[in-house]
Amino acid sequence: QPIVDLATGEIYKAEALIRWMHPERGTISPLDFIALAEDTGLIVPIGDWVFKQAVRQAHQWRQRFHPSFQISVNISPVQIRQDNLVCIQWSEYLIQEGMPRQSVAIEITEGLLLDAELNEKLLSFRDAGMGISIDDFGTGYSSLAYLKRFDIDYLKIDRSFVQNLGFDGGNQALCEAMVMLAHKLGLQVIAEGVETTDQRDFLAAVGCDFAQGFLYSEPVPSDQFEERVWPAVTAIAD
Ligand code: C2E
Ligand code: CA
Ligand code: CA
Repeated sequence: QPIVDLATGEIYKAEALIRWMHPERGTISPLDFIALAEDTGLIVPIGDWVFKQAVRQAHQWRQRFHPSFQISVNISPVQIRQDNLVCIQWSEYLIQEGMPRQSVAIEITEGLLLDAELNEKLLSFRDAGMGISIDDFGTGYSSLAYLKRFDIDYLKIDRSFVQNLGFDGGNQALCEAMVMLAHKLGLQVIAEGVETTDQRDFLAAVGCDFAQGFLYSEPVPSDQFEERVWPAVTAIAD
């Protein structure tokens, strides 16, 4: 799914969102199988596969669309807990592919920052130079001190705040406050679930950096991204 720069309308970021193409049941949502993959441990090889696909895709799109194209991948706490070497292996993969570290960003949820065992490992991703985003921001328990301590790059405002922006002054205030807070701490902000031009305009007016949502495109396979989404969104920006 593309992530659009609100100031220029350009696309040089995207989020990798997995689907299971089942031969009989058709497309299965991650909401229906990620939890199962976590319980069985399969999340480790699945997560590796997602990461490698993202790196390869970023490589192509850096050549084709934008020299600093970045793809973010969702990482499950179970993955970090079970696989001690994940960070080292991913760093090595980036080197092997000749890709700069910033060509990928890792999306984690707020809870992970508060887990002492896991946040140690999180530091190794940061030290390896990969981008780090806090996903679904505002829905969990977060400690603002952690945002600074872990040198987080992006804060993703959860869809629930964006959805009611039009008619809920409270959510307007919250979105604006989150943008201000993030900027004071040196983070950039991505608003999730942007579906209307009113939401986009409000977010742009309060200085939100990026937007992602059905207004621009639902998540699509990479060939459709190239053939349809990128040209269409970029044409609007021009
Ligand atoms: P998420 O990381 O919060 O991803 C955003 C979800 O919001 C996606 O659902 C996306 O399709 C949906 N979305 C995007 N724009 C809009 C919009 O404008 N309106 C609405 N109503 N929804 C929008 P999706 O693709 O079903 O993914 C669900 C969750 O599954 C993700 O939530 C993420 O937590 C997890 N997930 C997806 N791919 C992976 C993966 O590769 N690894 C892991 N560990 N988790 C994944
Ligand atoms: Ca995400
Ligand atoms: Ca999210």
